[in-house]
Amino acid sequence: MEEATEGLSVARACGECSLCCRVLRVDELDKLGGVPCVHQDVDAPGCSVHAQRPNICRSYRCLWLSGGLEEGDRPDRLGAVVDVVADGSLVRLEIRSLLPGAFDASPRLAAIAEEYRSSMPVRITDVEDVLNPDHAYRVLLPAGEEHRVQGDRTEIQRPGQPVEYRRLSLFERAFRGVLLGLRRLRIRRSRSGPRRVEVPPGR
Ligand code: SF4
Ligand code: SF4
Repeated sequence: MEEATEGLSVARACGECSLCCRVLRVDELDKLGGVPCVHQDVDAPGCSVHAQRPNICRSYRCLWLSGGLEEGDRPDRLGAVVDVVADGSLVRLEIRSLLPGAFDASPRLAAIAEEYRSSMPVRITDVEDVLNPDHAYRVLLPAGEEHRVQGDRTEIQRPGQPVEYRRLSLFERAFRGVLLGLRRLRIRRSRSGPRRVEVPPGR
């Protein structure tokens, strides 16, 4: 999103990368994740409303831009946006790939996940996750534990142990149903057309 890091040991700029403009949601524009932003330049990487871009775009820094990944891990080369996300008091690493299956095909993404899973959950998904609220995703935890979540069911794998299956309780399923309904409403509204940033005449 066209930012440069400052005050960090690694000074970086987005350069040719604009993957987050495609992969991530931008509520201020009613932009869905996985859909190119209407303000992405078609001729060159970058934002055609850079000076007027929404606040979320100004403040967003993926983990690479923040200096948390190796120089060669720029998201457009990895095929995934990697960032640390706070969900209430919980913090997790998110790996959101542009294409399904990109995580399994990338030794580097697997190495990043291994590095972080002992200190925080690592959630692996792709852009479909935002367009389909029931899309499956995986969570990697310490000691080789992995949760594969599909709808209200979770398959839990632990090294050397039989696979365990869990289903949300009735109350949790009802709560999830409400959240899914709200999410589908937002997706429908976004599909009716994104909002655009107003650019003052002469800019
Ligand atoms: S994914 Fe990271 S490096 Fe790429 S444009 Fe977004 S903030 Fe910049
Ligand atoms: S407004 Fe600009 S910075 Fe924000 S998502 Fe769109 S192209 Fe990217």
